[in-house]
Amino acid sequence: MSSSPNPTPNPNTQTDSDHVTYIKASCLCTSNTFLIPFITSTLPQSTALCHCSSCRHTSGQLAVHCAVAAGAPVAISESEGASVEIPGSGGGGSDTRSTYVPADLSNLSKYNATPAMTRYFCKTCGAYMLYERHPAPDPDSDVSISQSQSQWMVSTGCLERTEGIVKVGSHTFLADTKDGGLSEFYRTLNGVAIPRYAYAQGEGTGSSDATLPLHWKDPRLVRKQQCQQLEKGGSENHEDRLHLHCHCGNVKLYLTRPDQEEAKKEENLWLVPGEQLEGRKHKPARFIAGHCFCASCRLSTGSLVPSFIILPRANVFNAQSTASQPITLSPTSPTRLHNLTQYTSSPLTYREFCATCGATVFYWTKAAKGPFPRDPGSEEAVVVDLAAGLVDEGDGLTLGDSGEDDGRVMGGEGGGAGGEGRGAGGVLCERWIVWHDLMMNIGEAVDKEGARSVGEGASLAVRGQ
Ligand SMILES: [Zn+2]
Ligand SMILES: [Zn+2]
Ligand SMILES: [Zn+2]
Repeated sequence: MSSSPNPTPNPNTQTDSDHVTYIKASCLCTSNTFLIPFITSTLPQSTALCHCSSCRHTSGQLAVHCAVAAGAPVAISESEGASVEIPGSGGGGSDTRSTYVPADLSNLSKYNATPAMTRYFCKTCGAYMLYERHPAPDPDSDVSISQSQSQWMVSTGCLERTEGIVKVGSHTFLADTKDGGLSEFYRTLNGVAIPRYAYAQGEGTGSSDATLPLHWKDPRLVRKQQCQQLEKGGSENHEDRLHLHCHCGNVKLYLTRPDQEEAKKEENLWLVPGEQLEGRKHKPARFIAGHCFCASCRLSTGSLVPSFIILPRANVFNAQSTASQPITLSPTSPTRLHNLTQYTSSPLTYREFCATCGATVFYWTKAAKGPFPRDPGSEEAVVVDLAAGLVDEGDGLTLGDSGEDDGRVMGGEGGGAGGEGRGAGGVLCERWIVWHDLMMNIGEAVDKEGARSVGEGASLAVRGQ
């Protein structure tokens, strides 16, 4: 997260009369379950949905949304299981405890994308839960009290409820996406357009407050796409590869182009056949992607809007291996992809995340579920879901470019893992992915208004609006 969500309550300026609202947060496996303190007078918060490259590649999601806590998470005592609103530091009222015990964070793994921020994800199920911004070391100035303590933020997808607590107030770091990313779908909230910032909101001076219009694309991406369309002509290019990586680089994958004949088959719902456009322009065969609002996706990612590409496993390869076979994920497979932690979220159903940086990577199942085919002779899935935020958005942009890379293209904040080879620039990867407007399990969304907005925007996008 490159930006500070607004507003930023300062726990050190609260007075005895401030009330604190505690909201329960938990991950899918529930080994991390605690209360998050919020200063009641700051609620509901209106915070940024951050699209920066660090947030996308550490979470595996298209954007990260957090609420600003008043302090570190608090342990839940045995007698209470739900969120409570109580008088704060003054004590008394309905609060029967004299002290609050800090939550045990020992089942969370830490990842430092930058020295200024520690990110915490569940060691067992991979949920991205907490962000701790460290006090800025500034030896030249008097360290004010407000800078002497960490600022804690919580992933809103882990909260028991968001209504009255936090909502999406703006899009930030859209410049990192090259094509607007999730903001192309998540356009409004309660009928009001969500502000779209190129970088941070209200940070620094001048151009840092610049906004970008709906349908904005990085000019270099537009140029690149025009070239690609001309170069490819009417033929499929089977050398095409789309690169994906987690932030730490321990998981690096590439996708190969879906087979045009397979894509033409109606039963292969997750493939879209290529088509010839006017002139020499051509659209290749592509995969579909969409958003799932089920509790399992939400709590295993920490995201309000978990987004996945649905694709044949046969098209997924380990970029760090010379093997000519696609990746395998079965726990018993000798060629299982390294560096992933596997969590069994329901019988025969698995969630896989980077063991080092916590990025969500795969969701897959061997259970009979939905329209996806099974291979009874194999322990592997035929079709897998791949976290959409891992797409290497910068890939392809710097090739043949005039060298005007602003340093954010490959990995964004803190450098990241970068990428190599060819690919489609831009987070939404239009040359590889068709974004579906079918919202999955929208009834389970914790933020129903936000989920409805994403659905509306996705429908408009599908119609080219
Ligand atoms: Zn967990
Ligand atoms: Zn789901
Ligand atoms: Zn990683």
